[in-house]
Amino acid sequence: MNINKIKEKLEKLGQPRFRLKQIKKAVYEDGVSDFAEILTLPKELRHQMSKLKILSFEVEKVLVACDKQSTKALVKLHDGKLIETVLISPKPGDWSVCISCQVGCPMNCRFCATGRGGFTRNLTAEEITDQVLFWKQYLRKNFCELKTTNQEPNNIVYMGMGEPFLNWVQVSESLKNLINPELFGFGARSVSVSTAGIPEGISKLAENFPQVNLAISLHFADDKKRSEFMPVNKKYNLEALKKALQEYFQKTNRKVFIEYILLENINDTKNDAEKLAKYLKSIGKLQLLHVNLIRYNTTGEELKPSSRNRVLEFKNFLIKNRIQATIRKSLGKEIRGACGQLIGK
Ligand code: SAH
Repeated sequence: MNINKIKEKLEKLGQPRFRLKQIKKAVYEDGVSDFAEILTLPKELRHQMSKLKILSFEVEKVLVACDKQSTKALVKLHDGKLIETVLISPKPGDWSVCISCQVGCPMNCRFCATGRGGFTRNLTAEEITDQVLFWKQYLRKNFCELKTTNQEPNNIVYMGMGEPFLNWVQVSESLKNLINPELFGFGARSVSVSTAGIPEGISKLAENFPQVNLAISLHFADDKKRSEFMPVNKKYNLEALKKALQEYFQKTNRKVFIEYILLENINDTKNDAEKLAKYLKSIGKLQLLHVNLIRYNTTGEELKPSSRNRVLEFKNFLIKNRIQATIRKSLGKEIRGACGQLIGK
């Protein structure tokens, strides 16, 4: 929903200002999915608004994983393009929404399914935040009887399809709306943006949204390997990324999450762990770095996830080197809704 368009419509209809407030409450707080459901509005106005849609897209399909911890929605945009968004509930009352910011992705990382389909277009801020609205409505419809635990999205991650810093204008507009107390009202610290490592974007995030969390998809601490798997490294290598992070720390003094997928015999050996430790130490501010180790979710035949043992060894090595590290549980594999598996099909 584009709140400015709603405002214009109400003005055209000569409605008093408080109608906009009533609509904001109904849509952003209560999660209604249709103007006809907003009973605080007079009947005539509800009728006048009934042609307008709250969501800018249609949801074609919803897939729920067996353990119900993750749910994926296939979204059809107004021009027929498809994207995916995922709702993840690692524990009761905890609802993370993983949103896409582009149709496809231009980054072309070798391990990620999204990039393989190429890049189609940027999403608008409205299309980005509507993914959150959709899950809000979904939770309201499906779990309204369970009032004892939280049934609202409480965490937003830009980790779906696309590279947020290549769509900065729309992404920053969407961030503004997510943390605007008059609209979604999320705490900035409940929102995370993940990047493959674009220095200008890191710098803009620090300047404009210092409280929003930053995650870096590092995956390799060796330039040759990183360039081979992540073409972005040819333009912005590890040294450039280091400088960007040092500046980020200076401006925000906030913790940064380092994402590291473990690929068998590619980046999971003792030597790789040593390189990672060395690189992170060279950035300085080790206490502000936290490594999330992620088991690779298969997206083809070529690459294999590391064994559990390897993942544990890798983690223990980092911990011994005073580097904070956790193994991230990856949910939603059987619905192809885990990190790197979204293709919009
Ligand atoms: N373009 C952004 C955000 C989208 S990807 C970025 O690169 O950060 C979200 C996360 O999923 C990134 O850390 C990405 O590297 C990771 N990812 C991609 N493919 C994956 C796979 N097959 N298995 C596990 N994680 C993957």
